[in-house]
Amino acid sequence: MIKAFSHPDFKRNQEKAGGLTPCCICGKGIKDMSTAKHLRVNVYNEFVAADADLAPSEDMGSFPVGSECLRNNPELKLLIPSATDPVAQPHRS
Ligand SMILES: [Zn+2]
Repeated sequence: MIKAFSHPDFKRNQEKAGGLTPCCICGKGIKDMSTAKHLRVNVYNEFVAADADLAPSEDMGSFPVGSECLRNNPELKLLIPSATDPVAQPHRS
């Protein structure tokens, strides 16, 4: 699986993003944060499930991902909890 901040041009894209929040994979600015999905990342820059049981020292938190990167890496969609998918919300009982 692809890693966070792993795009070869991440730093350059991030600099070009200006005031926009950078995508956590390619660093390009995310134009519409209101619809951006977030992915949780551990200290090894690996994407983990939103409800993964991580030690605080291993948890980097959640970062926004651009729609383009999400489309190019469909396996990442499995890590994003969906309001319409009851399987992704095991704690709501
Ligand atoms: Zn991206």
